[in-house]
Amino acid sequence: MQTLLLKNIKTLVSCDDADTVYENVDLYAENGVVRAIGPSLPQSAGRVLDASHMLCYPGLVNTHHHLYQIFSRNLPEVQNMELFDWLKALYEIWKNLDEDAVRLSSLVGMGELLKHGCTTCFDHHYVFPRGGGDLTGAQFAAADALGMRFHASRGSMDLSVKDGGLPPDSVVQTVDEILRDSADAIARFHDAEPYAMHRVALAPCSPFSVSADLLRESAKLARQYGVRLHTHLCETKDEENYMLAREGVRPLAYMEKLGWLGPDVWFAHGIWFNDEELKLLADTGTGVAHCPISNMKLASGVARVPEMLRLGVPVGLAVDGSASNDGSSLMEELRVAYLLHRLHSSQDAPSGYDVLKMATRGSARLLGRDDIGQLAVGKCCDLFLVDARRLELVGGLYDPKSVLATVGLRGAVDCTVVNGSVVVEQGRLVPIDEERLAAEADAKCRSYLGR
Ligand code: ZN
Repeated sequence: MQTLLLKNIKTLVSCDDADTVYENVDLYAENGVVRAIGPSLPQSAGRVLDASHMLCYPGLVNTHHHLYQIFSRNLPEVQNMELFDWLKALYEIWKNLDEDAVRLSSLVGMGELLKHGCTTCFDHHYVFPRGGGDLTGAQFAAADALGMRFHASRGSMDLSVKDGGLPPDSVVQTVDEILRDSADAIARFHDAEPYAMHRVALAPCSPFSVSADLLRESAKLARQYGVRLHTHLCETKDEENYMLAREGVRPLAYMEKLGWLGPDVWFAHGIWFNDEELKLLADTGTGVAHCPISNMKLASGVARVPEMLRLGVPVGLAVDGSASNDGSSLMEELRVAYLLHRLHSSQDAPSGYDVLKMATRGSARLLGRDDIGQLAVGKCCDLFLVDARRLELVGGLYDPKSVLATVGLRGAVDCTVVNGSVVVEQGRLVPIDEERLAAEADAKCRSYLGR
């Protein structure tokens, strides 16, 4: 049996149902599951950590990413473009993806997430070039190598430029091919059991790059297998205009018609919803992955998160792909989300703790999980530790629930634990040599970009 004991944690912010904050407690886990939280627990354990100077939080949960875009960071030629032109330019690069590019970019992105306190990642991968290899398998292998809890998507596109879509022909498939590959990914990788390390969602790219048929059939297949549904929606005003011109309805009405509302569905971005649409999301339990940095970089707009939270729309936090973020720190996203919604009014804006809950409980809900996003007996032992003696935290710890969003952390967390195993220690990845990975990934990135 694998056991872990954190001794004498200075402050533990649990994000549990009662919003409990513990002082000077121990946490004991067996086989990746928290079995006790309390003062002076008697257990010994295979691994014991002294946490007497540490703040302890549940691991953050990322609800939208495109890990392959790590190899499209900071490209000067697309810096000033907005979504549609930006995508068209980048597809010319992304059509060259292969298994090794996906493996290495996944390792780098997941490594960066883990170092910043994120313990579960959902990745929206939708670029499957013909002959590109086993990209989903490469992603799960990367997650296993790092010890990260991973939800993959079998994403898809079936409309290329010749059908009025944005991507080139070589990265789209027919609906039949996509459904076959989706069923195959679920059979190979999806684990529906509690405490699962691997899950799969179906995630056509966006309504403007896929057909109505693909959306409808993906929803049917997902429900047949009990997996979740995800796509980009209402990211830009361009998308709204495009859908009105092509379909004569607004994006959410279009998705509703195709069976894409419900507690098993979450949309990335969700910026341009009107009042009625926000109510519809709340009434149906349909979720939104909020990606503030990406939305700012691509000048997409500001999601109506304060209203969503007030209405009870499920909201999680996400970094989005590194082409539209240039980074993979969900911790940074906490502070940006906190500040962004204060730009016009501090009255309605989420508190620092609201934002932390969004990135933990809220995100877990979007992924359909009640076993992560909080620290309590019977939940996954996914957590991170921050040394309370850091200079940037001095004076800010009267409210440890809000401090990560309001004051913010500079640099990596001190320790990250996933499934009861220490994967980041003293701010460095444990399972992998970071310098070697950086060198290998950089070489691959250069050859992939042809520069
Ligand atoms: Zn995205």
